[in-house]
This record gives sequence, C-alpha cells and structure tokens, in this order.
Amino acid sequence: MDPYQDDPGYTFAAEADSSDPLAEYCNEFVDHDKTLIYLDGNSLGRLPKQAVPLLHDVIDAQWGERLIRSWAPSWWNLASRIGSSIAPLIGARPGDVVVADSTSVALFKLTVGALSAAPDRTKIVTDNLNFPSDLYVTQAAADITGSRTVVVVESEDDIHGPEEALIAALDGDTALLTLSHVSFKSGYLYDMEKLTAAAHAVGAKVLWDLSHSVGAVPIDLLGCGVDLAVGCTYKYLNGGPGSPAFIYVRADSDVVNPIAGWWGHRDPFAFDQEFGETATIARFQTGTMPILSLAAVEPGVSLTARAGMEAVRRKSIQLSEYFIELSDLRLRPLGYSLATPRSPERRGSHVSLRHPDGWRITQALIAEANVIPDFRAPDNIRFGLCPLYTGFVDIHSTVMRLLGLHATDALSRYPQTRDSVS
Ligand SMILES: *Cc1c(COP(=O)(O)O)cnc(C)c1O
Repeated sequence: MDPYQDDPGYTFAAEADSSDPLAEYCNEFVDHDKTLIYLDGNSLGRLPKQAVPLLHDVIDAQWGERLIRSWAPSWWNLASRIGSSIAPLIGARPGDVVVADSTSVALFKLTVGALSAAPDRTKIVTDNLNFPSDLYVTQAAADITGSRTVVVVESEDDIHGPEEALIAALDGDTALLTLSHVSFKSGYLYDMEKLTAAAHAVGAKVLWDLSHSVGAVPIDLLGCGVDLAVGCTYKYLNGGPGSPAFIYVRADSDVVNPIAGWWGHRDPFAFDQEFGETATIARFQTGTMPILSLAAVEPGVSLTARAGMEAVRRKSIQLSEYFIELSDLRLRPLGYSLATPRSPERRGSHVSLRHPDGWRITQALIAEANVIPDFRAPDNIRFGLCPLYTGFVDIHSTVMRLLGLHATDALSRYPQTRDSVS
C-alpha cells in the first residue's frame, strides 16, 4: 500500500511502473529496506544480487582454497575480460578496453600519455563543469610534462557545457581536449561527436571521462573517433565501492602508458630487467589488480548489457522528464529551481535542483524521509535516476516526502550549512 496513492499524481506513476519493460530489474539488486528511496546510484550504485555468491566464491574457493593457483585460470586476464564486456556499452571494440586503477589515476596516465605524444603543443582545454579531481589531475599532468597551460573555459550558467567557447579555444597549439561526458553537478550531456571532431580538426586529441554517462547514456566511442576515455564502474555500472576504473585507447593511438609496470609487460613472468610492452590493451595496466573489487564489477556490467543501453536511455529520459515536470509543478513554489538542462538530449541521468536550504533539505530527506539524494555545494541537491532500479512511484514518493518536510518544522532541526565531508 503506497501512502500517497490518494494523491492525484499517483496513478500516472503507478501506471508508468506497471508498463515499464525494465521494471523486473529492480529485483536483481539487494534491497534491505523497502521504504528507502535510493537516488544516489550516480555516486555509488546498488549491490547486484549476483555479486554476493560471486564474491563468496572468489574469496572462499578462488582465494581460500586455490590460493596462488587462481592467477592463471581466473585472475590474470580478468581486467581485460571485464574490459571487453564493458566495450559494447561504450561503442568500443572488445580489445580496446581494460579495467585498471581509480578513474583519477587512469585519467592521469592517459593525460600524461597524450601530452608526451604531442611535445610541441602547449595547450590543454577543459571547462569548469569538469569533475574537480579531473581538473587537479589535468593540472598535475600539465606540470609534470612541462611548459603546458590548462585553459579552463567557463560555463555561462553553470548548467550548460560551454561547447561553442570550448571549440573557439581549440587551436594548433592544443594537445588535448579533456572533458566529462556528463557533468557531475548539472548533468549536462556533451555532444561527443561534435567536440571530438572539433579537436581533431586542429590536430588535438580528445579524452572523455565517462564516469557519469557509462551505463546511463548510449556512447559511441568508435563512431565518434574518440582517442582516449576513462570511466568509473561503481556508479551506474554498480561495481561496488572503490571498484577499479576502465581505460579505452583507440587501437591506432600513439599514446603510451607513462607508468610502465609488469602488468603491461608482454611476458611478466620472465622477470626481464627491460620493459617490453605487450601489444594488447593490457599495456595500460601497471601493477597487480585488486581482484576482489575487480571481480565485483562483472554482475553490474552484465545486467546493464542485458537491459540494453537503448532501453536504459529511454527509461532514463522518461524518469527525468517526469521528475522535472513534478518539481516544476510542486517544488518550484517552495523555492526550488532546476539546475539541469531542460532538453532531454542534453541531459544525463540525474536531476539537480537548487534551493537556498539545499544542505538541510538533503539532511532531513535522509534522516526523516528515508530518501537518499546527495548534495553538491553551494546549493545543489542531486537526484540520481537509475533506470535499472528507480521507479516512477519512487519519484512521486520523493516529491511527496519533500512536501511533507516543508509542511512541518522538520527542516529547522538541521544546520543550514555543511560543516563536514559527505
Ligand atoms: C566519480 C568521478 C570520478 C571519481 O574518480 P576516482 O578516482 O574513482 O575517485 C572522477 N571523474 C569523474 C568525472 C567522476 O564523475
């Protein structure tokens, strides 16, 4: 029994859920609390049920029983095997993707690699909607490769990517255009094809961070001719906390892994004093993979592949359109404003709402309404809509619970500003 079913908006949501072709996928995830509405899967995805027995096997049988004998049959090629299963989700060939490192480290490797491949080009172009860690990494890579300038183009409204200004900033001195495909705060979805073509037109390479788009938006790296890409596996791919990132390098790229290590060697167990790079994408690995975290990536990837990116995208747009419509109607009068593009073609799979009391609203939602979004300074409340497990009634209930908070004095019990990390 839904407590909000007397609300006139409820019927639409319930009907949308009952005709949703992806509805059954919510049963594929561990759900300990049926009243919790989890809208933070763009930060940490839910636990796929299949991952539980799988990890149990990895720990007990593969590690506990077979010990080091598991390297050869199970573990050595796992990162390339899972990379190959991620490939169709991003429009890549199976042999061009490998799992390795955190996204920040993977980004550093590819950025240094791209800059080293263009020693005479002094400029790196990005924008201020990029993820802060990506900006730190880009600056660090620029510093370490010498005499490079990072140009950070500013968005006019902090919502839409400054695409025309980015294109205008590209020139013959540009080594690299590096961007997030979907911006972490506003959810802006960049035109990958247009920006990649613009970078190539001046002879620059392009590096896309797919952390907020993989598993949420169809991606065509090969079709767009993208040189380099990285992305998280623990967001929409549901790979688990700290699961390793993936690296894509176009097959004909001249970019070399700047952190040569034995996992990128063509014959690691020869323990050769000289580095000899392997010809496969495994050359972008460096050291021993975190096998437990790595193994956990596979169930989420296969669920996403089974659902199909077209169906995922269709539902993602329906969810975000519905959420925006409801918030225009019912939340705007309470001081909320949309901080995400209105056009679905330019939107990823989360919706950000701005409110001057955003911080305390987020705290009250979590503590009193059992809804988990997240907060991004100064005033953004982010609602991640994950087509594999977010339903339309979840969205309706979220808005109703928000209205409930505003109807009482609940908010006044929470501090107005953020005083700690979250
Ligand atoms: C989530 C996210 C990251 C996180 O990087 P880690 O190194 O895995 O912590 C990096 N970049 C973007 C664009 C992200 O959305």
